[in-house]
Amino acid sequence: MTQEVLTFDDQLADHGVSRRDFLKFCGTVAAMLGLSELAVPQIAAAVEAAAASKLAPAVWLDGGLCTGCTESTAQSENPDVAQIVLDILSMNYMETIMYATGDSAEEALRQTIDASSGKFIMVYEGAVMTGFDGNALRVAGKTGLDQIKEVAPKAAAIIAVGSCAVDGGWVRAYPNPGGAMGIGEYLAQEGIKTPVINLPTCPVNPVWLVAMVIDVLLLGGLDDQGKVTQALVDKLDEFGRPKLIFGQTIHDNCPRRGHFENGEFVYQFGSEEEAKGYCLYAMGCKGPQTYTNCPIVRWNNKTSWCVNSGSPCIGCGGFNWVDENAPFLSRMRKVGLGHVGASDGGWSPATIGAVAGGVVVGALVVHGVGMGLAGRIGEGPETEEMKDYDRKRMKKGGDK
Ligand code: SF4
Ligand code: SF4
Repeated sequence: MTQEVLTFDDQLADHGVSRRDFLKFCGTVAAMLGLSELAVPQIAAAVEAAAASKLAPAVWLDGGLCTGCTESTAQSENPDVAQIVLDILSMNYMETIMYATGDSAEEALRQTIDASSGKFIMVYEGAVMTGFDGNALRVAGKTGLDQIKEVAPKAAAIIAVGSCAVDGGWVRAYPNPGGAMGIGEYLAQEGIKTPVINLPTCPVNPVWLVAMVIDVLLLGGLDDQGKVTQALVDKLDEFGRPKLIFGQTIHDNCPRRGHFENGEFVYQFGSEEEAKGYCLYAMGCKGPQTYTNCPIVRWNNKTSWCVNSGSPCIGCGGFNWVDENAPFLSRMRKVGLGHVGASDGGWSPATIGAVAGGVVVGALVVHGVGMGLAGRIGEGPETEEMKDYDRKRMKKGGDK
């Protein structure tokens, strides 16, 4: 009996995805990578060719996490193009959703890293748990740290998905008894030099992950020896994030921005202003200080994103975002302008006049005027009471 060979278009059709959807997706990927529309056929052909052969394998390791990034990527209910493209990867080890368990799962990992040393991609989700001598996380009878030390040096590149993997995320929030940290920081500490591409947010957007996989494996991100090329390195910022994805703030591309400029703000959920879709800055929106392109790429197969669905941005794309941004529904303590680090001396609205110029400042002034006209000076959203651990932290002089 001859076995039916599915074409790539058959595979798309099986998932209810049209060729047109696929090409549109390739257009999005091109934009993420800074390529013009002219590159779309090249990307499509590369993905198609990869589907017919076999891509370099990948392993997906889990640290301290909620598995939300796996869920965001797998989208098990409604697979979209991103998932189909990821299916083309030989994901030989993925703790959360692989069929194999126990010894056979670990054997698959060992075989992959031995057979494809220097050629496979390691995707890392979750925080590196260094606490309790590494015993804060144990995998297959050894510490998560031992697993990283075994796999990471042999990978061609590591893609850190989600804020937990990038800087520890919420797992690292004060007081951080598990010693959570990002994979890049941990590797630097251990002297492991495998390049890391950081994709923060909570959870990661699968389109970003696919774009980086395509860039690394199909568009010349690795040279013949499996080494990361300078062209790929040049696309990353000083924090190892793709500049085109993390180079602008949420605020720069927010559809509510016009309301911000006009001083039209939501001050209470359930209000007329909320129904009108006014700006959520007064409800604590961290969009002005958060660098990602969520408003452009959006989530759940481009359906929506946080601000679109009525929630202020809580800044999960920033660094140390839980400690820096909580309480999430309070007006921000710092507004970022032209810098990206969370603890890099962001400025407060009170110092606007002294340190900044331009549109945002003008808008904040308009906001003040708007509040004055509305008799709202001194009001604004309720501020949560300071939590006990916050008080203790303040007494100690904050996180070090
Ligand atoms: S980054 Fe967010 S979604 Fe991803 S594993 Fe961490 S907590 Fe879960
Ligand atoms: S403050 Fe938030 S809701 Fe308002 S325009 Fe900026 S990003 Fe959008």
